[in-house]
Amino acid sequence: MKANCWIGRNKVEIRDVPDPGMLNRRDAIVRITSTAICGSDLHLLDGYVPPTMQEGDVLGHEFMGEIVEVGDRVDPERLRVGDRVVVPFPIACGACAACAAELYSCCENSNPNAGSRKRCLGIRSAESSATPT
Ligand SMILES: [Zn+2]
Ligand SMILES: [Zn+2]
Repeated sequence: MKANCWIGRNKVEIRDVPDPGMLNRRDAIVRITSTAICGSDLHLLDGYVPPTMQEGDVLGHEFMGEIVEVGDRVDPERLRVGDRVVVPFPIACGACAACAAELYSCCENSNPNAGSRKRCLGIRSAESSATPT
């Protein structure tokens, strides 16, 4: 597939990258039909956040599209192949205490590299201790 890739500070390119795969039994793969640039992308573009960007990293995290595959632990009453979806900025597991309280932007499992935020901002966030499978 084609993706907008970070090449270096303030430089991006459209490149061919491997198709996404299922990493978690609760994942869904979305064929993106529309997307936009987020302010967070600008922090990545200029290399400020996170300091771990590497050439070829794929940018973009807010989009809309069609579900093309779901994991076997996805509730078919909530999400099925063919559904059209809008994906906003928060990434949430749907299973932790914060998600159970509908505080999705405070999800405890959304950042597998929480230490990088501490290096940038002095605090950890969304640290995963037990990613649901
Ligand atoms: Zn965003
Ligand atoms: Zn969560």
